[in-house]
Amino acid sequence: MIVIMKQGATRAQVVNVTARIEQLGCTVHISDGEERTIIGVVGNGRPLDKGAIERLDGVEQTVPVLRPFKLASRDFHPQNSIVPINGVSVGGKNLVVMAGPCAVEGRVELMEAAQLVKEAGAHMLRGGAFKPRTSPYSFQGLGEKGLRILADARRETGLPVVTEVMAPEQVPLVTTYADVLQIGARNMQNYALLHAVGEAQRPVLLKRGMMSTIEEMLMSAEYILSHGNNKVMLCERGIRTFEPYTRNTLDINAVPLLKQLSHLPVIVDPSHGTGKWELVESVSKAAVAAGADGLIIEVHPHPSQAMSDGAQSLKPETFSRLMDDLGAIARAVGREL
Ligand code: PEP
Ligand code: MN
Repeated sequence: MIVIMKQGATRAQVVNVTARIEQLGCTVHISDGEERTIIGVVGNGRPLDKGAIERLDGVEQTVPVLRPFKLASRDFHPQNSIVPINGVSVGGKNLVVMAGPCAVEGRVELMEAAQLVKEAGAHMLRGGAFKPRTSPYSFQGLGEKGLRILADARRETGLPVVTEVMAPEQVPLVTTYADVLQIGARNMQNYALLHAVGEAQRPVLLKRGMMSTIEEMLMSAEYILSHGNNKVMLCERGIRTFEPYTRNTLDINAVPLLKQLSHLPVIVDPSHGTGKWELVESVSKAAVAAGADGLIIEVHPHPSQAMSDGAQSLKPETFSRLMDDLGAIARAVGREL
């Protein structure tokens, strides 16, 4: 349930209500709004006496939260959450664009890509060092060497780095080098991994599973949030449908729907969402118009030579043009780029 305090309720009243709820074995999450304080209550499985809470001084009313996700829900936290990442804020007025190759392929290649996306105006650098591939014979990523290259690229460009972590035991290593831990679509429901990145207290980019519902994604976010790590960004990256002309079907509905259900920032991945570079510009614009807080886009200096996902990677000049075009769309929906 959520406990809505009266307008002008005192700090002492909030503390008293919190203490009473904790005595009953529940955990509380306080959200101080401009007008009033909301106390989110995560129960312990046993029913809570609504009347007993409502009789406490300063309480206006209690409202049951019927959805299974609590900490991720906007009921618990009406204001947008802002995730701070080394000087970049995700979830505020300014849109954030993360760009770079699908995979870190080598030092020279990544440095070139990092410089080019920075010049085009990207705010963060993406690139996988651990790659989840359908075939065990495909390029699996450079591992720790790739992470070191990413950290060097951050030093050279100042761009914070987002990279995938595939297993709980990799979390300490990836955390040493990366600013944002990416949970890939294939791992959205890897609960041991979600616990591990929750404990790491590092920003997380949680990608939607290719066959997962919105509610399942929010439940996965809940795992991370349950560790007190509230630096979670949700990423719509397309789902599987019957349509073979594209790699996935980007669920544009997910953007306004997630913004309605949750306070967490929403990032869109038009590269995996389409699988075709020719569609990436249009879909990026649609995502911004739909209210996304940012984009994650694959950019490769030479897409035809890419070791993974070349078909959906933009050339730097196309990415640069897209960045120029996105500004006007951002402003049309009250955002800045
Ligand atoms: C990626 O970002 O390169 C990636 C593997 O994405 P996803 O997990 O969405 O397939
Ligand atoms: Mn990729």
